[in-house]
Amino acid sequence: MAVTGAVGQPGSATASSAAGAGVVPAGSAESTAVPPPLVESGDVCPSRFGAALVDGSVQHLSCVGVGVGPANLSLASLMWSRPELTGLFLERRPEFGWHDGQQMPGATLQVSMLKDLVSLTDPTSPFSFLAYLHDQGRIYHYLNARFEAVPRMEFRNYLAWAAARNPSVVFGEEVMSIDFDTMFRIQTSRRELTADHVSIGVGNQPWIPPAGRPFLSDPRVFHISDFTSAATDMTGLRVAVIGGGQSGAEAFLELINRPADRLPRRVSWVSRRANFFPIDDSPFTNDYYMPDHSDYFASLPLAAREQFNLAHLLTSDGISEATLRQIYQQIYTHHYIHSRPDLIALYPHRELTGLTRNPAGAGYELALRHGQHPDLTEHLDSDIVVFATGFAPHPMPFLQPLRHRLHVENGEYRIDAHYAAVWDGPGDHHLFLQNAARTQRGLADPNLSLLAWRSQRILDSLTNTNTNPQNPSFIEWVTKRPNVTAE
Ligand SMILES: Cc1cc2nc3c(=O)[nH]c(=O)nc-3n(C[C@H](O)[C@H](O)[C@H](O)COP(=O)(O)OP(=O)(O)OC[C@H]3O[C@@H](n4cnc5c(N)ncnc54)[C@H](O)[C@@H]3O)c2cc1C
Repeated sequence: MAVTGAVGQPGSATASSAAGAGVVPAGSAESTAVPPPLVESGDVCPSRFGAALVDGSVQHLSCVGVGVGPANLSLASLMWSRPELTGLFLERRPEFGWHDGQQMPGATLQVSMLKDLVSLTDPTSPFSFLAYLHDQGRIYHYLNARFEAVPRMEFRNYLAWAAARNPSVVFGEEVMSIDFDTMFRIQTSRRELTADHVSIGVGNQPWIPPAGRPFLSDPRVFHISDFTSAATDMTGLRVAVIGGGQSGAEAFLELINRPADRLPRRVSWVSRRANFFPIDDSPFTNDYYMPDHSDYFASLPLAAREQFNLAHLLTSDGISEATLRQIYQQIYTHHYIHSRPDLIALYPHRELTGLTRNPAGAGYELALRHGQHPDLTEHLDSDIVVFATGFAPHPMPFLQPLRHRLHVENGEYRIDAHYAAVWDGPGDHHLFLQNAARTQRGLADPNLSLLAWRSQRILDSLTNTNTNPQNPSFIEWVTKRPNVTAE
């Protein structure tokens, strides 16, 4: 468990110079006005920067992206149609993946299919989900299937398709360090690059409560992000799923959905929340996931922002109603139709406070504290413990050389309205931070909802433009000035 090829844009200034090596400033006269051709899906991207690797010259780019998850992939997709910008987006994994270790059968996206990499800011982009369906010849089938929500695996395949057809996306290359003199200097696992700007999108990493950490080398204790490989054969075992969010719900459902001859002996579901609560997906709540609310949120004092995130957590971290219904129906079926009342145990409002190996060698003993009876400790025996306890910001060790130049607030690097780190460097060189500012930008920051808009804002900063904003919410978030009377 992780707890915690170089390609340019054909036709762009840097890519055309790369084959011949040497440093070419971004936006030079060699830039073309037409977007580069798309790499056909299925093709391997041509390695246009290969020469830089061989002769040791340093390649200069407008923007280097660190990490290729949805965040930087969105920026790479929008940047594709701006050939005056040379972008290179580096991903340390050898190939694209999106939470592959927890792609449970039947799992779906929790947001609209329009919240893809590009559509909400550029509906004409060739990197939209609709463009993917069309490119793959399945647009009618998708329509006729009438999915209630986008299958998560299909969205993952869409993301992989977008990565594969964008020649500025590179896999198998890790960013090791970023420094700055007159430009950013990026040391990767393969070479040195220079860039005017950097966009960091390294996402989150699995988080496990302290009680579970000593046991992580045991294959019977694992994080949900490893579920598909670690939870293969649970037949006849006692399994405890810790965590009452969507991930915990999906793990629980998958376990109780197994065929009768592969069912665990018992599946216990533990949540700190007072019940197994749904996501709030109602209209006015969804206005929290609009650009103008993001800006309003950023203008609030720290204490108000923290309080908001706590109070409205279920708008992003609750369980889809469809998943809850499937779980309830399956429990009914086991309990009353197949007479298996002992298969399932539900323990909401319990916090895991301790985990010990059973002295007899048979699994683990979990200590649980009830939210309304904190003086009492309950004990639960289990052979397997699955932690669906969420994710925490991914560390950024590669920023060590710049750390002292960046402003920090409450454990987060401070960002400005364009998602650029506030630092003591020159104002025309930016270090953008995507999905690393939940306290500054709210619950939407790790979410897909504002992905395209955030990338557009970054792109606007790079191109000194101001893309036509959508109308604000019907709700007036900002309080009126005292001398203005509300009508
Ligand atoms: C199971 C699951 C389902 C989700 N479903 C939804 C949903 O339905 N709707 C929604 O709005 N949100 C959803 N989310 C939340 C959000 O969409 C995802 O967490 C999303 O993946 C965040 O994208 P990202 O690009 O910021 O980070 P990530 O997807 O985590 O990508 C970061 C990448 O950076 C790479 N990296 C790290 N360090 C380096 C380095 N030094 N050099 C190079 N590469 C590096 C990593 O390998 C990784 O690939 C879901 C999250 C999970 C866990």
